[in-house]
Amino acid sequence: MLKLNLDDTFTRNLPADPISENYRRQVPGACYSYVNPKPVSEAALIAWSEEVSSLLGIQLQGDHAQEWLDILSGNKNVVGFKPYAQCYGGHQFGHWAGQLGDGRAINIAEIKTETSNYILQLKGAGPTPYSRSADGLAVLRSSIREFLCSEAMFHLGIPTTRALSLVLSGEEVMRDMLYDGNSKPEPGAIVCRVAPTFIRFGNFQLFLARKDHKNLRVLMDYTLKQFYPECGQAGKAAYLNMFKAICERTLDMIIHWQRVGFVHGVMNTDNMSILGQTIDYGPYGWLEGYDHGWTPNTTDRQHKRYRYGQQASIGLWNLAQLASAFHPIIEDQEALQAILDAYQSDFHQKYTLMMAQKLGLHSNTEQIKSIISTLLETLHLAETDMTIFFRALSEVQFDDSAASALSKIHQAFYQPEDITGLVLQKWTQWFESYIEVLPNESTAIAQRMSTMQHSNPKYVLRNYMAQLAIEEAEKGNYTLIESFMDMLKQPYTEQPKYDKWYAKRPEWARHKVGCSMLSCSS
Ligand code: AMP
Ligand code: MG
Repeated sequence: MLKLNLDDTFTRNLPADPISENYRRQVPGACYSYVNPKPVSEAALIAWSEEVSSLLGIQLQGDHAQEWLDILSGNKNVVGFKPYAQCYGGHQFGHWAGQLGDGRAINIAEIKTETSNYILQLKGAGPTPYSRSADGLAVLRSSIREFLCSEAMFHLGIPTTRALSLVLSGEEVMRDMLYDGNSKPEPGAIVCRVAPTFIRFGNFQLFLARKDHKNLRVLMDYTLKQFYPECGQAGKAAYLNMFKAICERTLDMIIHWQRVGFVHGVMNTDNMSILGQTIDYGPYGWLEGYDHGWTPNTTDRQHKRYRYGQQASIGLWNLAQLASAFHPIIEDQEALQAILDAYQSDFHQKYTLMMAQKLGLHSNTEQIKSIISTLLETLHLAETDMTIFFRALSEVQFDDSAASALSKIHQAFYQPEDITGLVLQKWTQWFESYIEVLPNESTAIAQRMSTMQHSNPKYVLRNYMAQLAIEEAEKGNYTLIESFMDMLKQPYTEQPKYDKWYAKRPEWARHKVGCSMLSCSS
C-alpha cells in the first residue's frame, strides 16, 4: 500500500456540503462537496513530471505503478482521503455568473511535504455537483495543453499550478470544438494538477454574493493561516496585509506573463488563484508576432477583453472584485482602495524594470523609459516574432551600427521584405537610440548578456508546437510530448539539438484551429 503523508487542512477547517449524492445543484453555506471520481475503462499513463513526483516524494513508476495509475485515473481513491469538489463563483467576461465550482475537477489528496502541503486535483474525472449542464470530462487535446504549459511555465520561473500526470481514460468524449454544431468524439484524458491550494478569487466572491459573511470570514481565516501566515493573526490588519500580498503576487505573475508573451485567454475571477499562480490552462496562447491586441480565445474575439496588452488591467479589475468580497470583513474601503491604487504605480515600475532587463539595461531613467515605449510602438509596425527578437537582441553591441544591429534581429520579421521605407526608418532610429546606451566595458557587456538571456527565453511552447504534440498523441505517439517536456525544462539555455523549435511559426499554422484560434471547449 502507498505510504502518503496525508493532511486534511481544507476539509477540516472549512464547511462541507451536507448532501453526499452527486447531482447538479446550488450548494449554499459550504466550501466543497464530497464526490468520487468516475471510474474509467482503460486508463494509461502517457506522461508525467519527474520534478513534481519528487516534490511530492512519490514514484509513479516501479512497485506502485498500478496503484498510482488507479488513483490518477480516478478508478480508486487514495486510502484515508475523501475526494471533494470546491464550490466557488466568479465573474466571466466581466459579468457575475453566480455559482460555478469544480465542474470537472476533483481533489483527491492533500499531501504534506517538508516545505508545503500540496493538493492533488484530477481535471476531467467526471461530474460533480458543480458540473451544471456539462459532462465533467476533459479531452486529450486540452489535457496535453495544460500538462505541457504548466510545467513549461514553472521552468520559466513563473508562478503556476503544476502537472503531475497525464492519463488517457480510454473513454470517448463528445466535443464541439468550434461551437459550430459539429460535435465529434475525442479521446478522453485526465491531468493531475498540483498546487498548495486551488482557492480562487471566486471562492470568496460567492460568499459575498450570498451574503454569507460568517463563512466568508472562515475562508479568509483559513487562507490567512495556511497561505499567508506572515501577514499576521486573524484581524483587520492581517486581512489587509493579505490582500496587499495577493495584489503583489498577482501583479508579479502578470508581469512575468508579459515578459514571455503568455496570454492566459480567460482571466475570469474563477480562474484567478489566491496564491497568484497561473491556473486553468484553457484557450491560452503565446505571442508569435508581438501584438498588444492579440488573444488566442475565439470566444473573446469580438471584445478582446483578455488580450495580451490588457492582462495587467484585468488583473486589477479582478483584484477590485476580490476587494469587494473582502470588504464586509475588513470594513475599510479606503484602505482597500489604497492597496488597489498601489497596484497601478507598482505596475509601471515593475513593468519598466522587466522591460529594461529584457533589453539588458539597468537604470530606470527617462531616456530608458522612452527607449522602451518607442520599442513597443516600433514592434507593432511589422509582424515581429517576440521570442526571436528579444533573444537575438542580446547579440547587438555598443559598436554595432543601426544597420548591423538590424541585421542581427532580421530573422524575427515575418515578412523581412516589408522592412523598408518608414518602417525601416523607425527601426533604424530605435536602434540608434538603443546602441547609444549599451555598455562598452567587458564586465558590463557580459552582465548584460547574462541578464538578457535569463529574461528572454529561447524556447517557449509555441501554439503550433502544442498542436503538433496533440496530433501525434492522437495517433498514439507521445514522443513530441516527451521532447517538449525535456526542452522546456531549460528554456533559457542554448540547446542545439532543439534548434528546430527556435523558429518562427510556420505559415500553415497562422490560421489553423488549435494554433492561433482556440475555444473554451475542452
Ligand atoms: P473554465 O472556463 O474552464 O474555467 O470553466 C468555467 C466553469 O465551467 C468552471 O466551473 C468549470 O468547472 C466548468 N466546466 C468547464 N468545462 C466543464 C466540463 N466539461 N464539465 C463540467 N464543468 C465544466
Ligand atoms: Mg476555470
